Amino acid sequence: MRLEREKAVVCGAGGFIGGHLVKSLLDDGVEVIRAVDIKPIGDWYQVSTNTENVEADLKVFRNCEEVVEGATAIFNLAADMGGMGFIENNKALCMLSVLINTHLLMVAQRAKVSRFFYSSSACVYNADKQRDPNVVALKESDAYPALAEDGYGWEKLFSERMCRHFEEDFGLQCRVARYHNVYGPLGTWTGGREKAPAAICRKVLQAKLSGNHAIEIWGDGHQTRSFMYIDDCIKGSRIIMESEIHEPINLGSSELVTINQLVDIVEEFAGIQLIRNYNLNAPKGVNGRNSDNTLIQRYLGWEPSTALRDGLRKTYDWISTQMDDCGLVDKVRSIDPSVNEGASFVHEERSTLSQQAG
Ligand code: NAD
Repeated sequence: MRLEREKAVVCGAGGFIGGHLVKSLLDDGVEVIRAVDIKPIGDWYQVSTNTENVEADLKVFRNCEEVVEGATAIFNLAADMGGMGFIENNKALCMLSVLINTHLLMVAQRAKVSRFFYSSSACVYNADKQRDPNVVALKESDAYPALAEDGYGWEKLFSERMCRHFEEDFGLQCRVARYHNVYGPLGTWTGGREKAPAAICRKVLQAKLSGNHAIEIWGDGHQTRSFMYIDDCIKGSRIIMESEIHEPINLGSSELVTINQLVDIVEEFAGIQLIRNYNLNAPKGVNGRNSDNTLIQRYLGWEPSTALRDGLRKTYDWISTQMDDCGLVDKVRSIDPSVNEGASFVHEERSTLSQQAG
């Protein structure tokens, strides 16, 4: 299957990964007939021309029918999600995303589309296999016996199986990628749904600008994770969509770091060292998680390989520009730390440094 011959619809196109995917497909001459998101178009991270941009709630069956009209390839990246702070406190909301994928599968089957892509997550993995920060990387079979992340992870696991059974029972060709922590420019970096890399970049920048050189870290900082740069995520999603891989497959980097090491890198960019306050009572997710890339290497001879330092530099620079653009730089600078060490703005803005899902 070649995407160039298909008429694609991207769901969740107003979000981080969906926005990059639409752009990448259009840049390469793929016909994206529709880009869809529940958010008002003005709030999308990227709005591409040369496609029909649609604002619609895909939990509603009728809306799914309308947006799939005329499509032959569907990418489902739409989900109500965020970092660990969000998913631990919004389990029902996360699980309601099951309606999006279920309705999309139903209409895709009826419309006889040639391919359906589902963006799953490393949050499907069994929690017992992620208790030790000295991780053994997770291979695809480690999702069972099932003990997924409560709420968000269970929805992902259930939706993966819906894809599997739509393929087995109805012949709908489904492809499923399990993303491991995706980061990069043009994504969520503030507001409570951001993940660790973006949150850390923002916090370090704020600490630098305000002169209040302290940072709060959720957990003890020894939790381990791998982080995949957005370009690798887009490339991998497209190849998996076009492939003959019929089972859920890891799409993640295997470069493992602790949260403390992530902070070290960003501090280096900023040229400062911060006092680290560890909040052991905050949500911090599993202790350790990495992506075993044996299967993707076997199928594709490829795996995500952007060095964390390189991707993080681009993310840091972009967030710095964003803070400038929305006046945050002036706002932080206007707080004189010598007068008010714990200035309320800085305080409010200090949230999680280990917010991470999938
Ligand atoms: P995102 O939040 O930036 O994008 C998701 C988009 O879905 C949002 O723009 C949101 O408005 C939209 N959406 C939510 N509910 C909707 C609805 N009812 N109808 C239509 N649109 C709706 O997140 P992202 O990082 O771009 O993630 C994309 C997909 O990848 C999601 O399914 C997510 O679960 C999965 N994933 C992401 C990561 C990661 O680290 N970013 C990791 C694992 C899995």
